[in-house]
Amino acid sequence: MSEETGEPFHHCIRCRLPLLEIDARWLVIKDYKHEECMMEYAICEPCRNQTSAGFSEQSKAAVREFLATRIDWDARVEDFMMDSTLESRFACCIGCRTPREHMAGYGISALFDPTGDLIEGPLPLLICDKCTRDLVSRLAPADLASWQDFISSHFEGPPGDGDWPGQGYSGLL
Ligand SMILES: [Zn+2]
Ligand SMILES: [Zn+2]
Repeated sequence: MSEETGEPFHHCIRCRLPLLEIDARWLVIKDYKHEECMMEYAICEPCRNQTSAGFSEQSKAAVREFLATRIDWDARVEDFMMDSTLESRFACCIGCRTPREHMAGYGISALFDPTGDLIEGPLPLLICDKCTRDLVSRLAPADLASWQDFISSHFEGPPGDGDWPGQGYSGLL
């Protein structure tokens, strides 16, 4: 659901195709500063993959390493089996386990199947601003610039003040 319109997302931000008409899964990414949604978008999986396909091996390895070392997936899978509600998934950071109310900002990402049903697996997840910064600091500068180009070509200006960590980076996960 879009925070802005209160309706489901209809189109992929990149190819602009209607999500329900393309035979692909899609992601919804939202970035919050405190509890205010600063940015939100839906992107189909082919577009999401194309966006990061040009990334250097260094950056791809950095994302893989972040996912493998900063997130205790065994423990998280156990949590999700105990309580699979979205509230519990979004109660704290997938990486550092900081409770959401103690974060300055966070991003969430969720995956949907081609018919629009939420897919529960590693996603949906919530990641705090500090872990996001940690991830982003590992990316090659050129890849970081290309991600920022992608974001700025689809959104007007950087919203809010400079300490907003967002930029839709949780779309990288
Ligand atoms: Zn697309
Ligand atoms: Zn964190």
